[in-house]
Amino acid sequence: MRLFLTLLARNRLAVFGAAVLAFVVLVVLLAPLLPLADPDVTSTGDRFLRPLGGGPLLGTDHLGRDLLSRLVWGTRLSLAVGVAAAVLAGSIGAAIGVVAGYFGGSIDNVVMRGVDMLMAFPYILLALAIVAALGPGLMNALIAVAAVNVPFFARNIRGITVGIAHKEFVDAARLAGMGHGRILISEIVPNVLPVVVVAMSTTIGWMILETAGLSFLGLGSQPPQADLGSMLGEARAALITAPHTSVVPGVMILLIVMSINLLGDGVRDALDPRLRSGALSRPMAATLVDRAGVPEPKGAGLLSIEDLRTEFRVGPRRYKAVGGVSLSLAPGECVGLIGESGSGKSVTALSVMGLVASPPGVITGGAVRLEGEDLIGAPYGRLRSLRGDRVAYIFQDPLATLHPLYRVGDQLAEAIRVHHPVSRAEAGARAVKLLADVRIPNAEARARAFPHELSGGMRQRVGIAMALANEPEIIIADEPTTALDVTVQAQILSLLDDLRRKRGLAILFITHDFGVVGQLCDRVAVMYAGRIVEEGRTQEVLSAPAHPYTKRLIACVPELGGGRRRLEAIPGLPPAVDALPAGCAFAPRCAKADAACRAGEIALAGTGRKLRCLKPEVIA
Ligand code: ADP
Ligand code: MG
Repeated sequence: MRLFLTLLARNRLAVFGAAVLAFVVLVVLLAPLLPLADPDVTSTGDRFLRPLGGGPLLGTDHLGRDLLSRLVWGTRLSLAVGVAAAVLAGSIGAAIGVVAGYFGGSIDNVVMRGVDMLMAFPYILLALAIVAALGPGLMNALIAVAAVNVPFFARNIRGITVGIAHKEFVDAARLAGMGHGRILISEIVPNVLPVVVVAMSTTIGWMILETAGLSFLGLGSQPPQADLGSMLGEARAALITAPHTSVVPGVMILLIVMSINLLGDGVRDALDPRLRSGALSRPMAATLVDRAGVPEPKGAGLLSIEDLRTEFRVGPRRYKAVGGVSLSLAPGECVGLIGESGSGKSVTALSVMGLVASPPGVITGGAVRLEGEDLIGAPYGRLRSLRGDRVAYIFQDPLATLHPLYRVGDQLAEAIRVHHPVSRAEAGARAVKLLADVRIPNAEARARAFPHELSGGMRQRVGIAMALANEPEIIIADEPTTALDVTVQAQILSLLDDLRRKRGLAILFITHDFGVVGQLCDRVAVMYAGRIVEEGRTQEVLSAPAHPYTKRLIACVPELGGGRRRLEAIPGLPPAVDALPAGCAFAPRCAKADAACRAGEIALAGTGRKLRCLKPEVIA
């Protein structure tokens, strides 16, 4: 709740709306206590007195009634009717929408056709018909306005519910044995509630307008009772001669509707947990860079990452996801980057091409050199021309990276045409060739398939083909086989190895599995809490791990035919990267750690075989 209010307070327009609305609501609530004239007492001698003319503050109307008093009482009535109608329409409509969207099938059909029937009438006509049937009066106007707005809520909420009802967490709830009622209440409703609240808050203004419309036509509040609509209706005849009688209620309607809408938008933004972390704010085209100096170029190599530092700035917190990583990649070389989940592997990989989302990501130091050219802070146009062309990525979940509505062949062709001005037909032919290159059988036909028609392994092959589309020199593969089963994983690894040898590709291969590294990589760097703790040739590291963490990681890999052996999990969890310990980050989980390990910075020592440890398992 506190968080909600602070977020809301940050939105100036919402605060302004809330202030105006609060003032209006306070005044109308206190109306019986305020020293106002009776709103219904006529005094024909004082007709059309001007506002601020010495008489009543806002003047008088065509019957000499005090406008200020009528305004306050009229606003009170209009607000009450608007809110009541919105709540009524919102709850009934949302209930209909949730039920129809969740159950689907024939229930959905029957319910929504009923709603469609309501929608088939022009709604002001429908409202008029309802009032005509029920008789004029404010209560009936309220019912009419609520009824004609039910379809709006039902349609909206049904659409959202359909989307949510097919999400995995709903399936999970069903698997956990929850009944329909509990799923509706605990899984669906919380997800649609923000939408209902916002739709309601924005429609309050609209309902006030509609009720005012009915009152304007004489079907809502009956004289002498004032609401904003009937005040406007009565003022119509004197629009030219005494405009203040129309302007006063008109301005009030404007104020109310505007402030409700501003506040409603603010409430929505503050309620949505995704907006809180800034996730829905549009990320910048390239990661923000805020670094003091540029490190001197060290080794050559094709790609060299030098002392890279990337952090996430969330409020006052600084999550140091990558804390000084150096790594180099030679042409045709495959380097493994290994570490537990959360150790900063993905952030390192994404930083290379400025792909970390900003906000909240900021690169705070280091350099990434592609054949000597520093990419950190390079202009967006330059990064774009390199992305996918010279440096390509393969991600873990190809289903998430492929567009669901385009055929895979077309997507490949599009990737080619971004960087090469070739004809559509030629790009299509190249796409088929690429699919054949990644050993997709019957590539011609498969190119016409949609992503959902392919199996997981097949999709990952498409992902690899996509990365190969522009014949890059470097491929950064971020856990490309983690979502696949072991046999498919082996096929993908052998495919990558093949491509690397044939095309001289340099691969930065990210994984958490030492077994995979052993099959593919020449060198391996072990990452822990945003830093590299050990680096060396794969065989050397595998056969004689020096860092206790590396040793534990290797012990996690099961061996076929290795006889009975306990698989050791590493006790404890990696440290939170916004509060790293002073010394070795692994010390709290390490059996050998002593005071020296915890005291202060430990350097990554050595050349070729590098190690960041005071108590190595073997002398490297
Ligand atoms: P992995 O090694 O599993 O790929 P990541 O590189 O994705 O790990 O994440 C490294 C660290 O950065 C994690 O501690 C994670 O919590 C943090 N992190 C990643 N993205 C964000 C973000 N948008 N905001 C805050 N912290 C983040
Ligand atoms: Mg990752």
